Amino acid sequence: MAYEYDDQNIFAKILRGEIPNTTVLETEHTLAFRDIAPQAPEHVIVIPKGAYVTYDHFANSATEEEIVDYTRTIGRICNDLGVSPGLDGQGYRVISNAGAAGVQEVPHLHMHILAGRPLGRMLEK
Ligand code: AMP
Repeated sequence: MAYEYDDQNIFAKILRGEIPNTTVLETEHTLAFRDIAPQAPEHVIVIPKGAYVTYDHFANSATEEEIVDYTRTIGRICNDLGVSPGLDGQGYRVISNAGAAGVQEVPHLHMHILAGRPLGRMLEK
């Protein structure tokens, strides 16, 4: 089944300016903002501006320009937050939940960038 995008999801509303957000970085194709319920001292959500549901949807369907913009924006945020191990930061985790098994709550692709404390093992169970 092909992906169907629900334009009433909360991140679509953020992109349309219907709901406020605390923007960290905005580019032509990407928006990054603070998670409303942070699970670490640094918790940034990074979304493409295009209508993509999951990472595989984006990776298979987005333009190269969108993919480069999105990927570079994530890299820049890691640098800006000071968490990149390559720049003497303490490290971070990037997570993208997809679908039911991935426990995705918002059906618009997003990466979580988490940092600022020891994050434990990747999966608890
Ligand atoms: P996921 O379970 O991967 O779909 O994660 C959705 C994330 O979106 C959660 O971490 C929520 O705290 C976050 N979230 C939901 N609504 C908002 C909002 N209005 N602004 C910022 N983050 C939000």
